[in-house]
Amino acid sequence: MISKQLPNLLGSTIWDAVVVGAGPAGSAVAARLQRGQKNVLLVDRRNGSFQKLCGCCLSPKANAELEALSVDLAAEDIPPIPLKHCTFQTASGALQLGLSHMAVMSRERLDALLIAKAVESGVEYQGGTKINRIEWDQTSNLRLLHAELKSPQHAFRATIRSRTVIDASGLPATSRARSKNQLFASRIGIGAVLRDDHFALEPGHLKMLIAPWGYCGLVRLENNCVDIAAAVDLRILKRRSPWQAVAEIFDHTCHAPPTHLSTAAFIGKPHLTRRSPLFDQRCYRVGDAAGYVEPLTGEGIGWALRGARELAGAFEQVDLDRPDAVLQIGLRYRRGYWAATRRDFHRCRLLTLAVRNRRLWDLTMKVSRRVPALVHRIFPHATLQPSHDGRHPVLSLSDGGEP
Ligand SMILES: Cc1cc2nc3c(=O)[nH]c(=O)nc-3n(C[C@H](O)[C@H](O)[C@H](O)COP(=O)(O)OP(=O)(O)OC[C@H]3O[C@@H](n4cnc5c(N)ncnc54)[C@H](O)[C@@H]3O)c2cc1C
Repeated sequence: MISKQLPNLLGSTIWDAVVVGAGPAGSAVAARLQRGQKNVLLVDRRNGSFQKLCGCCLSPKANAELEALSVDLAAEDIPPIPLKHCTFQTASGALQLGLSHMAVMSRERLDALLIAKAVESGVEYQGGTKINRIEWDQTSNLRLLHAELKSPQHAFRATIRSRTVIDASGLPATSRARSKNQLFASRIGIGAVLRDDHFALEPGHLKMLIAPWGYCGLVRLENNCVDIAAAVDLRILKRRSPWQAVAEIFDHTCHAPPTHLSTAAFIGKPHLTRRSPLFDQRCYRVGDAAGYVEPLTGEGIGWALRGARELAGAFEQVDLDRPDAVLQIGLRYRRGYWAATRRDFHRCRLLTLAVRNRRLWDLTMKVSRRVPALVHRIFPHATLQPSHDGRHPVLSLSDGGEP
């Protein structure tokens, strides 16, 4: 909500840092900076809790980062559901993996929890505040954020002044990343959350339905709703509506779609694979705003939280009064961020390329069955169990029965 004091607060305050976007990256970096005694404002264009396009899977990295932030999900009234199995289903067969240290939680709840954590640390939070433009005023060395504030009662524009701006606004509404070659073209994200108590999907089971033109992840959330998150080729959406594109993936893998799929409220995200400069004179970028690779392995939240830690850590190491502070912080952040995520990005990128080519994917699955140790490098969350003779660790891997 927009507080009544906000116009005064905005007019009179020079913030140490303004964080744009209260997703996992934004809330985490705001909480960490505030702990470093900074005067931090966190804004989001949306008000209250809302659904996001996401597979809602928390990777081991995401869980470790949440723990480091002292966010205790297990202590929640409704804790997240442990994710135990994943089935990769193509038209030619299925592969099932055991998973460990993974969980499922709806994004509405996760994001609300992280905002609450930031506020608890002393961060000032303002929902309903959309940042339209960020400028760098060289004379004062301040960043000027041109904001539009909306609530049912108020609507006004304001200029927020800050020493530092962190862009955590997620994937941009438009993207330059286009390639004519389908193999490299960035896909579009579409998804919905719907109620279907009879849909055959156990809690703790992630189903990935894979077609050559797109894939779709399905999990049951803690409120028993089914979360559908898909990445599809742009050309498919030129001819079909989002629900039709998803229904075709179900059809291709011989699965019956949930009832009410055609009336579900779908959300979309533009081109998913992209990269932006991590900093410039106006702002630092963190989370999806910094870069993202398709969601096949469900690791974006972990990367966003890790990026937040690296950026806040870089702030702690540099004297902010140095004339080259932006550069020094930026370089430290870039070094830490790439060291922490580069391998994951490359692994996911390779996997997303393999999934687009049926033969390549079938080969990947075949090799997975024969060389479990190798596949563990591709799917690091898969569980390893001792082999029968107890000497070599093997993947908990089995052939799925259907279709
Ligand atoms: C189909 C799909 C499935 C996925 N599945 C998974 C998964 O299972 N597991 C996983 O870990 N990751 C998954 N991801 C990735 C994950 O959703 C993102 O990586 C994660 O949300 C990134 O967090 P963020 O804080 O950077 O951005 P976001 O969560 O997108 O948050 C950005 C925030 O900025 C706000 N904002 C935007 N513009 C403005 C503005 N101008 N002014 C003010 N506020 C603004 C938005 O309202 C939003 O709240 C998936 C992604 C897709 C597309």
